[in-house]
Amino acid sequence: MKTIALIAHDGKKPEMIEFVRQYKHVLKKFHLVGTGTTGGLIREEVGLEVEQMLSGPIGGDVQIAARVVEGKISAVIFFVDQLERHPHDPDIQTLLRLCNVHNVPLATNPATARLIIYGDL
Ligand code: PGA
Repeated sequence: MKTIALIAHDGKKPEMIEFVRQYKHVLKKFHLVGTGTTGGLIREEVGLEVEQMLSGPIGGDVQIAARVVEGKISAVIFFVDQLERHPHDPDIQTLLRLCNVHNVPLATNPATARLIIYGDL
């Protein structure tokens, strides 16, 4: 089973829940990992099983980045809030950078995420 990582900044969590709810029938075919709060919300509100890492600001993004480096993640869906500043910005940049270094599909908004989950992962 292929793995998709799901991460959303606080201002983007409602969009993530809406996205996961809308495409639950597709996403349930994947192993899902998520940062702590995002993963917990998806479980509670949509009922999909998510392997929860730590919360983003305390290292969850870096844990997911490590899996990307190890070749264990087929795609990353990361709804970034561009209107807020984030204390863990270096971790965020690390994850985005390593997806690009390792040619891992990366969606930072729902329109691209939809294309990825229907794509040939
Ligand atoms: P969270 O982390 O899902 O634990 O809120 C996301 C982030 O801010 O990177």
